[in-house]
Amino acid sequence: MAVVVMKFGGTSVADVERIRNVARHVKRETDAGNKVAVVVSAMAGTTNQLVAWVREASPLHDAREYDAVVATGEQITAGLLAIVLQSMGVRARSWQGWQVPIETSEAHGSARIAGVDGAMIRSRLDSGEVAVVTGFQGVEPKANRIATLGRGGSDTSAVAIAVALAADVCDIYTDVDGVYTTDPRIVQKARRLPKISYEEMLEMASLGSKVLQTRSVELAMVHRVRLRVLSSFVAPEQMAPVRLENLENIGTIVTDEDEIVEQQVVSGIAYAKDEAKVTILNVEDKPGVAARIFGPLADANINVDMIVQNVAADGKSTDMTFTVQSAELARTLDVLKAAEKDIGRFDVRSSADVAKISVIGIGMRSHAGVASQMFAALADKGINILAISTSEIKISVLIDAAYAELAVRTLHSVYDLDAA
Ligand code: ADP
Ligand code: ASP
Ligand code: MG
Repeated sequence: MAVVVMKFGGTSVADVERIRNVARHVKRETDAGNKVAVVVSAMAGTTNQLVAWVREASPLHDAREYDAVVATGEQITAGLLAIVLQSMGVRARSWQGWQVPIETSEAHGSARIAGVDGAMIRSRLDSGEVAVVTGFQGVEPKANRIATLGRGGSDTSAVAIAVALAADVCDIYTDVDGVYTTDPRIVQKARRLPKISYEEMLEMASLGSKVLQTRSVELAMVHRVRLRVLSSFVAPEQMAPVRLENLENIGTIVTDEDEIVEQQVVSGIAYAKDEAKVTILNVEDKPGVAARIFGPLADANINVDMIVQNVAADGKSTDMTFTVQSAELARTLDVLKAAEKDIGRFDVRSSADVAKISVIGIGMRSHAGVASQMFAALADKGINILAISTSEIKISVLIDAAYAELAVRTLHSVYDLDAA
């Protein structure tokens, strides 16, 4: 018998018929004697609608009230799933974040989970009941208010509950049957990875592969949670129930590096279209300028990603290019304007029509030439590189957004990732 956390994303619970399908997946597990906590997202499109209403109500809204509104989507799904399970003869009860409780930080809109008390859920499971928990939301204990975990946050709820329950496995059911070498909706030749290391998954997620929220992977890595990604669209009765000895047969398992026998140099390719490029022209080339540019941005909590500084051809002035989230572009320009008296006079250009393409692989630690291969392949397609950043296991380039898909497809072939 296993303790299983099953998380179902928006498309998997898009309507009552699909919720019934989810209930059959849950019943398969309880029929096999497993103890199940389910974590659900809002029905597909619901969170977007809620966010749109909040923005329509006021573009400059209070983050606490944003959370009060957008957290409701998950409440609907949890209640509906409990009802459907009951109608199928499965004992079930729905729970919201505050009832568990799942405690969070004060950062409304993108709160972090501070702690999950698993005792109540655990005793429900021990009594033979299925616990259906709302993803994406918890309670900020100081002000006793509902807080949400940022888009895609139900993945993180699921992992946090798995940690609290010391679950044997945390299964993330979604609309694809695993983690692929790149987004299978963009590249038809993408291949499902039977296993991926926590480190690589963390890079993939943070560099744009939204199949798992970055924080969920972080949390799973720290607590060594056995995390799987699988499809909810496989007929529930055709899947074998969780047995601890057959975990690796389906989907993708996110696991320790040393459990992966066949390691490619590059395991995956991620892309992100939500960055914007800012170029500051003609700033003085002297010590302290970078600090005067990036200090105020840091103070304003604006995350800067890639940075390129040109050499000063005349020895006096230079250009500096960097990227920020495109949602932060307007604020970035405001902060720079306000800092002009410290930075010195400069011209600024910006564009949100850029994409960041990243190749990721643990094998890069011991292989030279991955970057040059990437640059050559992009050059071959006439794709210009605007900025570069690297770490031990990834290389990212910034390019014109129009070439994003071509770049991903090209690199996918170049690194031998295409399915046969
Ligand atoms: P859910 O609503 O179940 O949380 P998401 O839309 O958040 O689902 O995540 C699943 C989607 O992630 C897939 O439909 C796929 O388009 C996208 N995706 C991006 N990169 C990858 C990848 N490398 N492997 C699998 N899916 C990916
Ligand atoms: N419903 C939330 C969202 O759409 C959380 C999630 O689905 O993970 O972002
Ligand atoms: Mg998701």
